[in-house]
Amino acid sequence: MISLRVSDLKQYIYCPRILYYYYVLPVPRRVTRKMEYGKIEHVEIQQQEKRRGLKPYGVLEGKRDFQVYLSSSRLGLHGVLDMMITSANGDIYPVDFKHSLRKKDLHQKYQLTAYAMLLEEAFLRPVRFGFLYLIPAKAIVPVEITTSMREHVKKVISAIRKVATAEKMPGYIRSARRCVDCEFRNYCADVG
Ligand code: SF4
Repeated sequence: MISLRVSDLKQYIYCPRILYYYYVLPVPRRVTRKMEYGKIEHVEIQQQEKRRGLKPYGVLEGKRDFQVYLSSSRLGLHGVLDMMITSANGDIYPVDFKHSLRKKDLHQKYQLTAYAMLLEEAFLRPVRFGFLYLIPAKAIVPVEITTSMREHVKKVISAIRKVATAEKMPGYIRSARRCVDCEFRNYCADVG
């Protein structure tokens, strides 16, 4: 079983075809200015986070770890979590840094849930909450990790695996509006 990346969830929710280009018919990809800038921003946030307390996360005492590599052979999933908070009593919380302004982007919630599930398996502790750190707004959004979100993550993982192992390009286009900004637009002849 191939190990999928947590970021695949976001891509699948954006458009299932992107996963076809990743796993079945790899096409050349370019590192965009946005990606480079994103990496620099993440380093800056790490520096800021190291200087402040954990109160904004509702934790009085604890520690932060950055760029935590997590993997699960059971889920067939791996990823690098931006930040993990461990409270003094051993509770753990995933924190995902995001470039979005919107608090309700579904893919963000599900990626965070996937990280929570990976943390639970790695540290054998239940994870009930995580946080999205919205970079442009400098806002911290708490997210409850619910049973239905966990179930949905498992369904998406299974759907991605189907795309990754099928020889056929998914016919379904989630939204033609998304094609305008998509880096794979040149390869999708049928979207105009
Ligand atoms: S161009 Fe459109 S259909 Fe093709 S991968 Fe991108 S979003 Fe999906």
